[in-house]
Amino acid sequence: MAIEFKTPDVIEKQLQPVRTVAENVMRPESRQLDDLEHARPVKFVHMMWPQMRQMELANLEAGLARARKTTNGDSGPTNGAPAKASIANLSLVHMIEMLSWGDAGVYLCIPGSALGGAAINAVGTPEQLERFLRRFTEGEPKWGAMAMTEPQAGSDTSNIQTTATFDAQTNEWVLNGQKIFCTSGKLALEESDGLVVVWATVDKQAGRAGMKPFVVEAGTPGAVIAKVEEKLGIRASDTAAIILDNCRVPAENLLGDAEVKTGQGNKGFKGAMKTFDATRPIVAASAIGIGRAAFEYARDILAKQGVRMEYDKPRWKLSTVQADLLEMEAQLHAAWLLTLKATAMLDAKQENQLESSMCKVKAGKAVTWVTQKAVELLGPLGYSTELLVEKWMRDAKINDIYEGTGQINTLIVARAILGYTRTELK
Ligand SMILES: Cc1cc2nc3c(=O)[nH]c(=O)nc-3n(C[C@H](O)[C@H](O)[C@H](O)COP(=O)(O)OP(=O)(O)OC[C@H]3O[C@@H](n4cnc5c(N)ncnc54)[C@H](O)[C@@H]3O)c2cc1C
Repeated sequence: MAIEFKTPDVIEKQLQPVRTVAENVMRPESRQLDDLEHARPVKFVHMMWPQMRQMELANLEAGLARARKTTNGDSGPTNGAPAKASIANLSLVHMIEMLSWGDAGVYLCIPGSALGGAAINAVGTPEQLERFLRRFTEGEPKWGAMAMTEPQAGSDTSNIQTTATFDAQTNEWVLNGQKIFCTSGKLALEESDGLVVVWATVDKQAGRAGMKPFVVEAGTPGAVIAKVEEKLGIRASDTAAIILDNCRVPAENLLGDAEVKTGQGNKGFKGAMKTFDATRPIVAASAIGIGRAAFEYARDILAKQGVRMEYDKPRWKLSTVQADLLEMEAQLHAAWLLTLKATAMLDAKQENQLESSMCKVKAGKAVTWVTQKAVELLGPLGYSTELLVEKWMRDAKINDIYEGTGQINTLIVARAILGYTRTELK
């Protein structure tokens, strides 16, 4: 089978208006939104919302079809034909790369169900999908979020201390605990009719098997935004700490099964965690967009000083700066190719956990290095707030932290390659 690396024409066409938005709407506001930190990119949000609603509708319809099949006990196509591959995810990573080239913090403000929606879509029943996700297809902009991290539970998700206790009298779950670093948490709970998927334990002794996701809707009493973070980078993005103080949600807000099951039976947790296989390539694409912004900027400024990219010369005939520029481009290309592979596998409905973690590790490292190199090559100009290069360096690092740090994704890669279990290699 021929391998095709050319961006499909249909995606090229989709990218044209995204590039225009990135250049003309995001970049001009970049500095101001970074300085103001908690201000919202209102114009951009309203510009993106109609497209997001359409995308949410398509996701909802696909999710409903999947959920109905699961409910009816139908596990897949009945005619023996493989599931039809699409390019939906491929298209998405291209868009996100371009939007992050525009401004990664502003891109993260795009309304939509986001990680919370992905978890609901992965394991929700048709009724839950309707109840929680329909809102993202209509009305005013809304945000979804996922709250897993706690002060003592980041990489080690099995240490989650937030509890969920069932109150049989009221048929409600009562959530108590503290969540930190929740992307779009305030937008979801306080500034729109959104929702947050909160992870809590129904049985602390059971570790991961006891962890369950609960949907907490905006306006639910007992779910309070304790603070919004002030951050190194992606400062336009809302990052909130949430306190759950006797926060009551209906029994039907539990996603998946209430029963604590270990091993193969623990499908709810595994199903929701599988969403990371779809979202890690998105983080990688965002990283690469920031990296490309910094690389292109440095390359173009240096070109004006007479430093050109010379692809046909052996490395030993290049100046150090030329070699650096080539290495920056090569690192970004390598990360992009891994991202395309993970995404193409996702579109083809193939298992892609290894590739998804691989591309995120590579992109997180590449963007951290490339943006630092851009600052270095431009000297004081790179360090100055007159340009956006120093900002891109600050924006870059998050891609090596959230949705599994570089180290944690490296562990996932190592386990997959060496055939070790989670307990054998930690
Ligand atoms: C801006 C921002 C937005 C975020 N958004 C969200 C969100 O929307 N929802 C959410 O739930 N969380 C979110 N997070 C949290 C993020 O996912 C966690 O910060 C991340 O998982 C790391 O957890 P931790 O901060 O507790 O670090 P720790 O787990 O304490 O790790 C500290 C360091 O130790 C390393 N380490 C840990 N365990 C191992 C190991 N076994 N082997 C080798 N090294 C190890 C880590 O790689 C890291 O370098 C966000 C964080 C930030 C900064």
